[in-house]
Amino acid sequence: MTKAGKTTHGAGDKANDAISSETLPFWEAKTLDEMSPGEWESLCDGCGRCCLNKIEDEDNGKIFLTKVACRLLDLRSCQCRDYPNRQAHVPDCIQIDPAEVRRLSWLPESCGYRRVEEKRGLAWWHPLLSGSPETVHAAGISLRGWAKSERRIKAENFTRYLIEDFPAALAPDDQAKSLNTD
Ligand code: SF4
Ligand code: SF4
Repeated sequence: MTKAGKTTHGAGDKANDAISSETLPFWEAKTLDEMSPGEWESLCDGCGRCCLNKIEDEDNGKIFLTKVACRLLDLRSCQCRDYPNRQAHVPDCIQIDPAEVRRLSWLPESCGYRRVEEKRGLAWWHPLLSGSPETVHAAGISLRGWAKSERRIKAENFTRYLIEDFPAALAPDDQAKSLNTD
């Protein structure tokens, strides 16, 4: 079983704000290795998907996703309850840096770091584009409303909560309609 988190460590050391373009946003002008700590941190869309427990088949290394979230994750905000001290609580929380973004096959396709690394740009729900931390929830990208906390589930039962894949994002029009009908 593997858990994953996110962090600023490792990226800031290689920051190079001087190359920032006057016309392009930083996430298009810079590589992950070139970003400042603040830029790096802001690339996380706050979905919480990397905080789900994964199960690894020890025979072939295949990774299976579950809907069971780390005990430290707030399932409403999808934020870590103690981000600065998370590894004291959850020692196997992985610190994500540019090298890990390239290495971790299970990092969601929707992840801001992965999208930038793969030169796919940021999606409409990303707070850097929308200006709001709520759009990642409105788009159905975050864990809000469907994940379970491992606080209530024994590790041997995680296999009951396997998922094929993450939910697909709603289109901007669809999420706007759903908001209007609330
Ligand atoms: S410790 Fe925090 S950042 Fe790490 S997996 Fe758990 S909720 Fe996510
Ligand atoms: S954007 Fe990436 S690093 Fe941030 S919470 Fe989502 S999956 Fe994790």
